[in-house]
Amino acid sequence: MEKISSNYIDNKENDLIELATKIWESPEVAFTEVNACEWTAELLRKEGFNVEVGVFGLPTSIRATWGERKPVVGFLGEYDALPEMSQKAETHKEAIEEGAPGHACQHNLLGVAHVGAAIGLKKEMEEKGLKGTVVFYGCPAEEVLTGKGFMAREGAFRDLDAFFAWHPGPINAVSRTLSTAVNSFKLHFTGITAHAGGDPHNGRSALDAIELTNVGINYLREHVTDDVRMHYTITNGGQAPNIVPDKASAWYYVRALSRETVEDVYERMIKVAKGAAMMTETEVEVEFLGGCYNSLANNVLADVLKESMDEVEPQKWTEEDIKFAKELEGAKTNSSGMLGGENNKKAYLYEGPALDLGGEAYASSDVGDAQHIAPGIMFITATSNIGAAGHSWQNTACGGMDIGMKGMLYAAKVMANAGKKVLNDTSIVDEAKEEFEKSMNGREYKCPIPKGLKI
Ligand SMILES: [Zn+2]
Repeated sequence: MEKISSNYIDNKENDLIELATKIWESPEVAFTEVNACEWTAELLRKEGFNVEVGVFGLPTSIRATWGERKPVVGFLGEYDALPEMSQKAETHKEAIEEGAPGHACQHNLLGVAHVGAAIGLKKEMEEKGLKGTVVFYGCPAEEVLTGKGFMAREGAFRDLDAFFAWHPGPINAVSRTLSTAVNSFKLHFTGITAHAGGDPHNGRSALDAIELTNVGINYLREHVTDDVRMHYTITNGGQAPNIVPDKASAWYYVRALSRETVEDVYERMIKVAKGAAMMTETEVEVEFLGGCYNSLANNVLADVLKESMDEVEPQKWTEEDIKFAKELEGAKTNSSGMLGGENNKKAYLYEGPALDLGGEAYASSDVGDAQHIAPGIMFITATSNIGAAGHSWQNTACGGMDIGMKGMLYAAKVMANAGKKVLNDTSIVDEAKEEFEKSMNGREYKCPIPKGLKI
């Protein structure tokens, strides 16, 4: 059924793997993805797409289109790496370069799978004379959860009638999961320095203000809804114990299952900080870094995607793949069989039919912003060993070898095939939009990135 796009993706396998490998070998963190962006744009141009780079105010973003008129089907790629996650494609922990970034979230695969989907769907449209437009969005800086927000502020994603967004993972599954919205901000306190032994009465400690803020936030936990998460780290606590710190800073996240709750608790955290400043006679400056929306899964598109996952032939693991997964330090089996049932018990690499995930999850993704602008769905495919923790060195390792590449190519085929279904049957877009309007319930997308905020 899905042959044309899948065959084309198979034909282009070398180009896709080469691109994913190049990005893996040259990891670039949020907003600095210069090479990844350029190489991705290059391949899309070669495949006949109309490619714009540096759109929506971000130098490393891409919008590539092919086709004309409606419906418009989108694929959302990402390509940023994580700091200090450098790792060889080996089964033991060893950095390629100590302290350098690495693709521990496997975004080297993420962007390329969406390129594969876009070129696969284009081929399908050419051969079958299907009408519509394919759009590839290259979205920087997912790891700081604001790339898509910055792009959305300048009008991105509004052209889409439906979109698909894949993420690497340990299993194959469509995700209807509700994940959290976030605000990220720093507090900078300024006080008066003094000799901590000689004349402490003349000092006003900025560190005291941070500590009192954190005490206040910890008391606040009792009086927020159960879905709220608040975390922090002190980024500057002063220089030495014998100096009353006149400068101190901390970095905070607040998460919750709705954007409204995040905004409400954020305001209360700022009040706590102002209270701490008053108590310590210091000044506080709030540096707002950005935020993102919770996810909003579209069930109409989830059904289409799940059907596509079942139709497309999944990854075929070789003995070497299984050996690699088994030998990875800290590798765990799927001993409970929770993932994929009895048949999948004791597996190191996921096998069996794709799962359909619902419920709640407390991590976040800026795909949530796009899902509040247009109907969209996320899914994952297995690109690592089953027991790999998120953002782990095992992920970096698997993303630079066969296991990751196979999951990426499966994802590309699934999305191209799902895109074909959307173009073949326009009632899908109508129903997806109807569901979208219903879940938005009259609310408008309000970009969490304020006007004037720069990256
Ligand atoms: Zn990620």
